Amino acid sequence: MLSKTLPFSNEQLINIVSKYPTPFHLYDEKGIKNNIDRLIRAFSWNQGFKEYFAVKAAPNPFLMKLLKAKGIGADCSSLPELMLAEKCGITGENIMFTSNNTPANEFKKAKELGAVINLDDITHIDFLEKTAGLPELICMRYNPGPLRAGNAIIGNPEEAKYGFTKEQLLEGYRILKSKGVKRFGLHTMIASNELHSQYFVDTATMLFELAVEIKNKFDISLEFVNLGGGFGIPYRPEQQPVDIEFVAQNVKAAYEKIVVPASLHPLKIFLECGRMVTGPYGFLVSKVIHGKKTYKSYIGLDACMANLMRPALYGAYHHITVVGKENEPHDQVCDVVGSLCENNDKFAINRNLPKVAIGDIFVIHDAGAHGHAMGFNYNGKLRSAEYLLRESGDVVEIRRAETEKDYFATLDFETLKEFS
Ligand SMILES: *Cc1c(COP(=O)(O)O)cnc(C)c1O
Repeated sequence: MLSKTLPFSNEQLINIVSKYPTPFHLYDEKGIKNNIDRLIRAFSWNQGFKEYFAVKAAPNPFLMKLLKAKGIGADCSSLPELMLAEKCGITGENIMFTSNNTPANEFKKAKELGAVINLDDITHIDFLEKTAGLPELICMRYNPGPLRAGNAIIGNPEEAKYGFTKEQLLEGYRILKSKGVKRFGLHTMIASNELHSQYFVDTATMLFELAVEIKNKFDISLEFVNLGGGFGIPYRPEQQPVDIEFVAQNVKAAYEKIVVPASLHPLKIFLECGRMVTGPYGFLVSKVIHGKKTYKSYIGLDACMANLMRPALYGAYHHITVVGKENEPHDQVCDVVGSLCENNDKFAINRNLPKVAIGDIFVIHDAGAHGHAMGFNYNGKLRSAEYLLRESGDVVEIRRAETEKDYFATLDFETLKEFS
């Protein structure tokens, strides 16, 4: 039986559950930090290498601040995400603003913060100029379309709504240069949850070659290439993580082969990973409240898809550990469900699990990215608290659970009284 391990002991977890009501998300500080250190070390050959954490993965300022202390920036794509970065003291070029279909006020805020603005479309050059003015540094998002195969979550680049075509991109550099923009970057993001290490090497190679073409055509020396995010994580116990060292070393080889001879050195490499930064280090902790046998067997948790909707949204696999029963035979086939009136509110379908009892603690793995973040209130469900397991072993609340009062906050019951 393939399994996944937890960064805390069962005793530690039972102790936490005795203090804090389930369900909740629990993040492992040590895991997050060690992983980021490893990423930074792997790319340390590149002067100016920087990771911008894709805030949407886990928009919690406590996590962002931990990352900031490691030199990690924020990759934002909305006004509230920009505001979160600001609250964490992440400003200026430590913010990458990679948005699409962008409202004017978001461009204004990004410009005000001095963020690196990454344009999604050629028409946004005009739009940005009119709404906020053009900054001195601009990046553009390239969509290679038929030139590159995509993957399951983002899909075929030709079908993806993001980015400039190659012709538009080149035209973009020409226009921006003529408008007095001085500093330039180039971005792409064409895969999500990709586990093939070579994919990222190929993406870097593609951008390096494009950087050379831009230099030759417009005499523009790019300041950075941003490879986007998309580093996958092994949700299934039999999967292997992306080999970060392999990626970094092979990107270095491509850099030496393409960038250095074209006199584009130093060219900074940026990443905007979200999933791999927090995903494996966040756990949804829940308790069994019901068992049900009809045409199938069901285990009912006190969590629901408002706490983690990836299984419902993508049919995603999330590994489950039943605390204390890791070594018991996993001979029961059941669906693990939440309480929403939606039949896709299932954390697992036909999963082999040990025999469980009411009150058993379920830990759902790899919930640290797009977990709490995708939470919603449909069906009157409230979002849970988030806790951080510190390196010291202490647990701190980094977001309280929502209450009914939060749910009703946008309603005015006084007006209702007079309403007929
Ligand atoms: C979602 C997203 C990311 C982060 O992707 P991960 O798969 O979480 O690494 C980075 N950049 C953009 C533009 C995104 O939309």
